[in-house]
Amino acid sequence: MKIELLKGDITKIKVDAIVNAANTSLLGGGGVDGAIHKAGGPKILEECYTIRNKQGGCKVGEAVITNAGNLSAEKIIHTVGPRWNNGNSNEEEKLRSCYIECLKLAEANNLTSIAFPNISTGIYGFPKDKAAKIAFETVTQWKSETIKNIIFVCFDDENYSLYKNLLQ
Ligand code: ADP
Repeated sequence: MKIELLKGDITKIKVDAIVNAANTSLLGGGGVDGAIHKAGGPKILEECYTIRNKQGGCKVGEAVITNAGNLSAEKIIHTVGPRWNNGNSNEEEKLRSCYIECLKLAEANNLTSIAFPNISTGIYGFPKDKAAKIAFETVTQWKSETIKNIIFVCFDDENYSLYKNLLQ
């Protein structure tokens, strides 16, 4: 299993699945969520609505999978990161769960490559250094079955340099 680092826009990446840092409603939002729906078009949101009608959205630390609309990826795995609450709400465990649930869904769908954004480190305010450590540790400990390639896609310089240090 190869772990890679890229800087830029996750909507442009050609992999089996890109991960979306969604919210519990699954109805879109700002940040990477907004960028994915804008670039991918309405088919993604349509499937999000279907899931929402069936199971009422997605809980923090869980994940759901949809089509990827017009994007080059095959699938989108939507996960809901925790909002940072000064470390008082099990945020670290919840963030770890996001990465694990996404990896599980990817394997369950026989996917071989997956790209992660820096979940929770934007609007949800999770400290970037802590989040990077959790993301990195969780994926390096993952016992892969179908996944051959994991890509961390960093949008901002701070995250990029944190991940670069971890990968070295
Ligand atoms: P959250 O609500 O989980 O914090 P955000 O979308 O606000 O989600 O931020 C998560 C991370 O996604 C941030 O580090 C932000 O810089 C990054 N981000 C925003 N737009 C994109 C994009 N187009 N591609 C990749 N990462 C992005």
